[in-house]
Amino acid sequence: MKAIPYGRQHITEEDIQTVIETLQSDYLTQGPKIAEFEEAFANYVGSKYAVAVSNGTGALHLCTLALGVKDGDKVITTPITFAASANCIRYCGGEVVFSDIDPNTYLLDINKVRALLESAPKGTYKGVIPVDFAGRANDLEAFRKLADEFGLWIIEDACHAPGGSFQDANNNIQSCGNGQFANLAIFSFHPVKHIASGEGGMITTNDEALYQKLLQLRTHGILKNNDLYTNSIELAGGNETYPGWYMEMQTLGFNYRLTDFQAALGLSQLARAQKGVERRREIASNYFKAFTNKSFIKGQSKSIEGHAYHLYIIEVEDRLGLYNYLRSKSIYAQIHYIPCHLMPYYKQFGWKEGDMPASENYYKHCISLPMYPTLTDEEQAYVIEEINTFYK
Ligand SMILES: *Cc1c(COP(=O)(O)O)cnc(C)c1O
Repeated sequence: MKAIPYGRQHITEEDIQTVIETLQSDYLTQGPKIAEFEEAFANYVGSKYAVAVSNGTGALHLCTLALGVKDGDKVITTPITFAASANCIRYCGGEVVFSDIDPNTYLLDINKVRALLESAPKGTYKGVIPVDFAGRANDLEAFRKLADEFGLWIIEDACHAPGGSFQDANNNIQSCGNGQFANLAIFSFHPVKHIASGEGGMITTNDEALYQKLLQLRTHGILKNNDLYTNSIELAGGNETYPGWYMEMQTLGFNYRLTDFQAALGLSQLARAQKGVERRREIASNYFKAFTNKSFIKGQSKSIEGHAYHLYIIEVEDRLGLYNYLRSKSIYAQIHYIPCHLMPYYKQFGWKEGDMPASENYYKHCISLPMYPTLTDEEQAYVIEEINTFYK
């Protein structure tokens, strides 16, 4: 049996052809594939605007910049996520305030967030970053209500959840990243995520002003628009109008651009993203059927509507034993995540063991089983059989 990882990309002949064509075109970067990818992606998640960037971490950084996070601003997020969800607050000098998860959903517990907000004067907290962890959508309608009550912005970290959704109070399906409730949402196209472009990321929003800011911040803070310049035409070197070469750097931005060949790969992958989510749901349902009555079927491993299944997680007693046993059988299950507040970097701010009991307890037991669209039925049957053997 060949090695079975917990996740992996899928590159088709068509993907390869489209990248080759883009490499042979006039644009390697700043060309037409970027807007094409952005438009198709916005369409996929149902948002008005999308901004393609170099990776998911850059997407998060541009979001905290665009929302004006500054020194000392307190922002709330979950400890059960990839470090970047919290780090983006630090990039702008903000203070990361971790809040514990709901042990059943593994998502930020909204009641604990509310308690946090109520325990401080209004205005203490600037924003919240819920993560659609493992592909399970947050109830962003509820988060929006809470955020409005306390004057917070919301960044939805939807890296795990393109194609995921939740049902709102009126039974409408709300897709992750559709911009209905969150101010901004972000995605990653790292090969282990649903859509691979090598490195890559996307920000989606329905807010035009934020969209314009993001475009500018993505390219050094430079803009090219005659109507928005603040220097005079004369200073710019023109007479009646701004000269053709003219542009202005008005704020401090970065280079977080995606290349055209990455966008081409992303576009090609996006075309079968929906199918990929369907296959992931099938795999999740196979695991659930095989293990229904087992003690390790808890929390997210139960069948869940709208779940995008970036990860399929079970909670086991002898986690180290199972992890090592599966490795000896060439099955590379993985752990998501070591709680962020226990990372040495965050411990220096005073976070310690015992601060987030639900997250810490979850971390003691969680293990992510192989989950990716090209996992075959035979491979999955082998994974299931080996887990059953371990538990015999
Ligand atoms: C992958 C990931 C990121 C970062 O994305 P990169 O493209 O790797 O920079 C951020 N948040 C979460 C939840 C992720 O899984």
